[in-house]
Amino acid sequence: MTDIDGNAVAAEIRAGVADCVETLQAEGVDPALATVLMSDDPASETYVSMKQNDCEEVGMRGIHVDVDDDAPAEELYDTVEELNADDEVHGILVQMPVVDQVDTRRVLRSVDPAKDVDGFHPENVGRLVAGNPRFKPCTPHGIQRLLASADVDPEGKEAVVVGRSDIVGKPMANLLFGRGEGGNATTTVCHSRTEDLASHTRRADIVVAAAGIPEFITADMVSEGATVIDVGINRVERDGESTLVGDVAYDEVREKASAITPVPGGVGPMTRAMLLYNTVTAASEQHGVEIELP
Ligand code: NDP
Repeated sequence: MTDIDGNAVAAEIRAGVADCVETLQAEGVDPALATVLMSDDPASETYVSMKQNDCEEVGMRGIHVDVDDDAPAEELYDTVEELNADDEVHGILVQMPVVDQVDTRRVLRSVDPAKDVDGFHPENVGRLVAGNPRFKPCTPHGIQRLLASADVDPEGKEAVVVGRSDIVGKPMANLLFGRGEGGNATTTVCHSRTEDLASHTRRADIVVAAAGIPEFITADMVSEGATVIDVGINRVERDGESTLVGDVAYDEVREKASAITPVPGGVGPMTRAMLLYNTVTAASEQHGVEIELP
């Protein structure tokens, strides 16, 4: 059984991104990621500050804009417009979820597609579905890299994705069944209306669990030798303490799996690394400077 070490793979990607930052800077381009937060959710605040620290670690400029969560929605739309117009900003990430007064779809549409390093703008979603992605969304792209790091080639295999969200399940399925490296799997997408979920997951060579339900995928739901990718991040109380668990019952599933990602230390660090990757990609394309992506 292989524990897929997301921290190690992410560190390699970050090192490669740091080299790209140097190449860009040598050509007079200082790659910059802008994060925007309009929420008082402590988890979102933590995510944004982690992303800013990640920028610093690879030598990239990080800019953060806090929009008051009581402000009218226009303030967020205006902030995005200003960042779109700023030539020194290459990537823009609006931390989701945003407060209720904001129209989430409008925000996603308003980010310049060339700076949309999350890959959620409809144009970029369309390109992904058409098999010509500009930016692969960070979590599924990170998972593709984790599979490659464990020498798991999805080609010809049965892949089952549990979850159909716009940020994880759908783009993951697109990458898995799409043509090209890291794709070509026969892919099933399951969701809350799927009947007999286990009959699908048991068939899978690769299971990607992204339902947001603690330890939902149990050993009896996976086949011997499957590769299991756990996207879930769930905070639960255990023995009176708050702890993080995934969507997979890790201890029992690892006895059957040939490779598995832990939580924490699996998919999470990859999501963050691929955001940096997308930002140097954006800077390189906006300025026509060639870089060697990791
Ligand atoms: P969503 O809540 O948006 O989507 C959950 C999906 O799971 C939905 O499609 C839902 O189906 C499906 N689902 C719910 N219940 C069941 C069930 N009983 N059987 C089968 N499918 C079910 O979550 P996200 O995709 O945003 O996130 C999923 C998990 O991944 C969360 O724990 C989140 O915190 C984590 N996450 C982790 C990241 C990382 O970097 N590690 C990044 C992003 C998310 P339906 O569509 O029918 O409602």
